[in-house]
Amino acid sequence: MRATQAIIHLDVFKKNIETLRAHHRANGAEPSICVPVKADAYGHGAIPAAKAALEAGARHLAVATVDEGAQLRDAGIRAPILLLSQCVPAEMEAVWAYSLTPLVSDTQAAALFAEAGKQTALGAIYGEVPPKVTEKLPVFIKIDTGMGRVGCRPEDAPALAGFIEQTNALKIAGIITHFAVSDSSKEENIAYTNTQIERFSAVAETLKARGIQTGILSAANSGGSVSHPKSWFDMVRPGIILYGYQDAGSLPALKFKPVMELVTQIVFTKTVRKGESVSYGRTWTADADTVIGVLPLGYADGLPRLLSGNFSVCINGVLYPLAGRICMDQCMVNLGAHPEVERWDKVTIFGGAKPALNAADIAERIGTIPYEITCGISKRVPRVYAD
Ligand SMILES: *Cc1c(COP(=O)(O)O)cnc(C)c1O
Repeated sequence: MRATQAIIHLDVFKKNIETLRAHHRANGAEPSICVPVKADAYGHGAIPAAKAALEAGARHLAVATVDEGAQLRDAGIRAPILLLSQCVPAEMEAVWAYSLTPLVSDTQAAALFAEAGKQTALGAIYGEVPPKVTEKLPVFIKIDTGMGRVGCRPEDAPALAGFIEQTNALKIAGIITHFAVSDSSKEENIAYTNTQIERFSAVAETLKARGIQTGILSAANSGGSVSHPKSWFDMVRPGIILYGYQDAGSLPALKFKPVMELVTQIVFTKTVRKGESVSYGRTWTADADTVIGVLPLGYADGLPRLLSGNFSVCINGVLYPLAGRICMDQCMVNLGAHPEVERWDKVTIFGGAKPALNAADIAERIGTIPYEITCGISKRVPRVYAD
């Protein structure tokens, strides 16, 4: 019922997946797609996004935390779920129980995962399927080819693979790496990504030469999935582009559309007289009699306070600037001297038809990335699914 809502266009989400697949086919490739639904699907709602992704042909999902994976399993989702971030030992039994597929960067974590499997059978809490006590936990070996985050050094991969095999509890489902600058078409960044791809390919070759089954090879995030065909291997992991935002530096520019549309309504209007101020800090003062509309959303809903004085919302196809500071639960819009809009009119904050701004425009204004804008739309804002 709340006026402020994040409308999630699942049809657009599915179309974005198809746009990427068409791009791959046009390049003579058909890697499988793993859709990251971490951070509640970048703020869009993990369960509906996961279901829509699978309907659109994705074969894997990816999460950052064990809780996120458990939430998908509890919703009846059976697809393989990659656990992208390193968890702690206390979470490892749950990884088995919920049948998540962790990335393993080192032998210590591999040993701990193997140990945890003695307590809990694979998939013990995984729907109605009875636990298969003998099954091994599939894991991906994470290689740090240049991201500088988790992952083993390329030269340590053979020893880690050997260790995983001899645990007798884990099995290698794939090899994975992550790019640092794949969404940039600057020459030096293209070269860096190519180096990462070469290091990754070399690891895969070395493992194969030693008779190790490498399983699924996966390197590409959004930037790689669009711009670096050599990084597609068996499976790509595009996140932000499927939610509608391709980095301006990533070429070729494909037609991804924003999935989230943040809307509200004008709940109050008033005329402020010349010289009167609006909101905390008195940063905005009317230079003539002006009609102000009050919107029922603020920084507690995820509209960054840093946008104060630097943002416009779309009402009936026209942009209107905010007036004064964004408050916790409200913000004010300058409707001008003789407004064409009325109380209760609908307002698009971002993501709707132009001229409404999108999350990338907002991000640019405050020096961040669209990921942080959509992830930051708080739990207080109901997600409404349209398809
Ligand atoms: C988040 C993440 C992705 C997706 O990244 P995007 O930039 O949203 O495409 C892929 N792989 C890993 C390991 C990640 O953490």
